[in-house]
Amino acid sequence: MSNSKRLRIAVQKSGRLSDDSIALLKAIGIKLNIRDRLLIAHSTNEPIDLLRVRDDDIPGLVMDGVVDLGFIGENELEEKSLERKAAGKPFEYETLRRLDYGGCRLSIAVPNEMEYEGIQSLEGKEVATTYPYLLERYFEEKGINAKAVMLTGSVEVAPRAGVADAICDLVSTGATLEANGLVEKDEIFRSKAVLIQRADGEISDEKQSLINRLMPRVDGVLLAKE
Ligand code: ATP
Ligand code: ZN
Repeated sequence: MSNSKRLRIAVQKSGRLSDDSIALLKAIGIKLNIRDRLLIAHSTNEPIDLLRVRDDDIPGLVMDGVVDLGFIGENELEEKSLERKAAGKPFEYETLRRLDYGGCRLSIAVPNEMEYEGIQSLEGKEVATTYPYLLERYFEEKGINAKAVMLTGSVEVAPRAGVADAICDLVSTGATLEANGLVEKDEIFRSKAVLIQRADGEISDEKQSLINRLMPRVDGVLLAKE
């Protein structure tokens, strides 16, 4: 589908992964002319176009071959892989590098007053989350019969609103949980940002050699920051 001669890279338009992803592209020598409102940004010194989208769309764009590369959090990537697999859609990709930013954990948290003696305390309960596939997989692994309730936002207010008994959400400091009277209990997934490539075998030799030329520079930048 990506029949353009220019390498297409998807990045989050605005959010926690945007600045670091753009900074990495610049650090490996790609000059970019980004205009805030535009979906596409063209590089002025390499045959590269940047597609600026919601992070939720990035795994699908790579797996459908609409773009060649994408910067994405492993949480979103794994969730979308499971969702697409279940729906019979392509879910293949290749991870080129695990990056040094976007670190967070997906954790189960319960209201302060809830008696919690481990994951079995969630038996028969409802848990609000934006990551139902990751959460259901965890329940299955643990042999727990609990239900993931999908919410796309404000997950942390679900127990107070009577929408769910507990939540499963991304945490970095825990301040949001505390502010909502929740306590973190089980970490179910640890995530960082990754750079991925389409794996449908359709990438042209020109594009692949450009990628192969860029990757040592990525390694150089990551090493210099260690
Ligand atoms: P979009 O509008 O693109 O859908 P979003 O609200 O889904 O944005 P962000 O909050 O910007 O996404 O988070 C993007 C990614 O950043 C997360 O999926 C995760 O991989 C990573 N991340 C790192 N720290 C955190 C955190 N404390 N909370 C949430 N996400 C985090
Ligand atoms: Zn998102």
